Amino acid sequence: MKTIRRFLAASFVLFLTVGSVEVLAQFNTPLKTAGFRRLTTNSEVVEFVKKCDAQSNEITVTYFPLQNGLQIPVVKISRAEESDDKLKVLMIAQQHGNEPSGMEAMLQLIAFFAKNTGHTLLKTTDLTIIPQCNPTGGDRHERRNGSGIDLNRDHLLIRAEETAIIQQVFRETDPEMTVDFHEYYPYGKAWEEFGYRRNFDIQLGGLTNINTSEELRNLFKINALPYIKVHLRQYGFSFFEYTLGDFPAGERLRHSTVDINDGRQSFGITGTFSLIVEGMNGRDSIHNLERRVKSQYQTALGLLQFALVHRTQIREGVQRARKELELPKAEVAIIQEHTQGIEPLEYPLFSISTKKDTVFKVEAYHPVVKKIESVKPPEAYLIPKNDTLLVSWLKRSGFSYQDSAFTIKPGTFQYQITGHEKTNFEGIEGSLPLVEKVQVSDVIPADYYLVPVKGLFSTKIVLALEPRAMYALPSYPEFEYLISGEKYPVLRIEK
Ligand SMILES: [Zn+2]
Repeated sequence: MKTIRRFLAASFVLFLTVGSVEVLAQFNTPLKTAGFRRLTTNSEVVEFVKKCDAQSNEITVTYFPLQNGLQIPVVKISRAEESDDKLKVLMIAQQHGNEPSGMEAMLQLIAFFAKNTGHTLLKTTDLTIIPQCNPTGGDRHERRNGSGIDLNRDHLLIRAEETAIIQQVFRETDPEMTVDFHEYYPYGKAWEEFGYRRNFDIQLGGLTNINTSEELRNLFKINALPYIKVHLRQYGFSFFEYTLGDFPAGERLRHSTVDINDGRQSFGITGTFSLIVEGMNGRDSIHNLERRVKSQYQTALGLLQFALVHRTQIREGVQRARKELELPKAEVAIIQEHTQGIEPLEYPLFSISTKKDTVFKVEAYHPVVKKIESVKPPEAYLIPKNDTLLVSWLKRSGFSYQDSAFTIKPGTFQYQITGHEKTNFEGIEGSLPLVEKVQVSDVIPADYYLVPVKGLFSTKIVLALEPRAMYALPSYPEFEYLISGEKYPVLRIEK
């Protein structure tokens, strides 16, 4: 009996192998076909997802052309026959062109679903993937896009066509969970001289801006971090919470920026469970590439499993966060600071000479974000129509606005700028205006667009338009003129 069973099993495996060898070969990613020795180009990305689309009726690809002829494919993967009450997950990769392993991993993930139609992971999840957000930077192996814009510092201004596409897909997909794949570079000079470096295959980061939902931030810390740690350990990959700061050079350690121009915070500020993955980059584009791609791929699979297991928690957390965004808020924190926690950080670092890990106790560790200054949001802002730069930004922003069919309330205010003060936020020198609010009465509705402070974007609107918000529009050189005069041109309609 035993022999027969073994024989049957063996012949079954043999049948599967012989029967599908040709089909399976089609799902080899271009990187695998190239033996992990050459990165996939944008035209190969497009060709490959087209092939996956043709193979599976669960995969649908939309192509967004760029002005230079390259394309951003957006891949939707969905089991059509299942209920429409599924958790929507959006994964994006390679906003930074010189961080390719996430893109290669996304192609492998798309191939996985093309090969395994009807997979359990999609039973309660709809997945959308933008495998290559920055095709021009990708083909050139450069961080920025063809116009020199850092896409992951562009989610507020949306100057780049690529960022506009990402934000459009985000709005149309309306995901409850987003994951943004990057790579960090562990081989910096300060670290080499120090003799130790970070050696985590994967770092995973959550939301840090304190205007985002506390429940979703806790879901990351309490549930997602340990889950992914265990998942990656099974596959032999090392892991840490995304922590940055060149501490050998005297910098403090913290959990990344609170700036809403970064992809993760820009999604999170609208009540989305938003994560960032930082895989370990290579010394050059292809160094250690197979391991880099495999660790990113396993992180993506682990996060999809997490989404399956914690589906109700994510969904309910997102629903509560979005409901709160619809309600009038007492305050929005416009200045925030990373501060010391209770415990120093136990930081495992890899000794370059002994090739072993040493755990450092880092006192200059600032994991807790605190509110320094806040404002009570107005009911709406008024944007002057004669300011063409501001109006063009408003039209790109995705915020809804009304054109003159509104009445001006007696509670309409303008900020007078009385001076400027120097600032240093997250290590960057800058300045903020000193302001006084005065009531205005001679406002003509036809001269303004009205931007109501409600809905998903309400907090983002306040953080963009309050002149004293640390990363508001005037903190960008192109919008500095907004605070260079005596009056701030954007008005507030209060209750
Ligand atoms: Zn990056």
